[in-house]
Amino acid sequence: MMREVTAIAHGKVNLHLGVGALRDDGYHELVSIFQSLELRDVVTLTEASPNTGVAGRVVELECATAGVPTDNTNLAWRAVDIVFGRSTQQPPAVRITLAKGIPTAGGMAGGSADAAAALIAANKILDNEFELGELLDIAADLGSDVPFTLVGGTALGTGRGEHLVPTLSKGTYHWALAFSRTGLATPAVFRKLDELDRTPHLDVTALSRALRTGNPHQVAPLLHNDMQAAALSLQPQLRTTLNTGMAAGALAGIVSGSGPTCAFLCEDARAAREVAAELSLSGNTAVTSGPARGAHLKGE
Ligand code: ATP
Repeated sequence: MMREVTAIAHGKVNLHLGVGALRDDGYHELVSIFQSLELRDVVTLTEASPNTGVAGRVVELECATAGVPTDNTNLAWRAVDIVFGRSTQQPPAVRITLAKGIPTAGGMAGGSADAAAALIAANKILDNEFELGELLDIAADLGSDVPFTLVGGTALGTGRGEHLVPTLSKGTYHWALAFSRTGLATPAVFRKLDELDRTPHLDVTALSRALRTGNPHQVAPLLHNDMQAAALSLQPQLRTTLNTGMAAGALAGIVSGSGPTCAFLCEDARAAREVAAELSLSGNTAVTSGPARGAHLKGE
């Protein structure tokens, strides 16, 4: 019987993103507090017929969303290839289907989350041959945000963002998101940032304390993104988006990660819907909440 395994990939927002020194390996030293969001993609692996002649690898990736690669550069494809490649079993050939709810090149770790979900799904096909620790190692090789999207919740990330420690966080936070028509490539935003004269913000003590209160009014003034100035310089119209969300009643508005998605923390779900309604006059929006889980199998 052909098997089908579906996994859920959750997006993220950086409640704090501090960008420190550029390291010798080309990465920046980061201090980030991540929060996973209910906003999700769905990743399905389907066993392909054995007569495709290519056991143990991905034969095809289908995704209806423009801008998402459908070849082996897709992070979900790479994730499956690595897991199957390390297996001591004889994995089947599989097709991947991606249903995107997370914006592409939007600063919400969509590709990373798909990779995390693909790791979980591929491991399920192998009857969970790999432990979480091994999946986390593979995740860190795939990309800096992949380990967080695997574990989810709220976490402090250091290094490239891949060294994670869970952070205590109470309650649920409600967000309105404003998507941008054109994406921003993360490396371009880092390059822009390196041209700017700036002081990195690497202290997350006050934010960590505020998250323990569960009060969005206390958290809102402490949201911070060092990359925001660079993202705004590349897409100046984001300033208008941020002002519109604030005027509509958001407690705080920030560029998410490397942008260009703008994330607005709101008092409650109703306020988030109102802010999104106002923002939707000039583009696509969503409402979501966090913290959510890490990547997981559908129905589990
Ligand atoms: P991050 O927040 O981790 O920096 P992002 O959310 O800004 O990432 P992604 O949506 O992950 O950006 O996409 C960045 C690029 O990665 C895309 O432009 C696309 O070329 C490529 N990519 C690879 N795999 C995927 C995937 N599964 N979904 C979307 N884009 C992918």
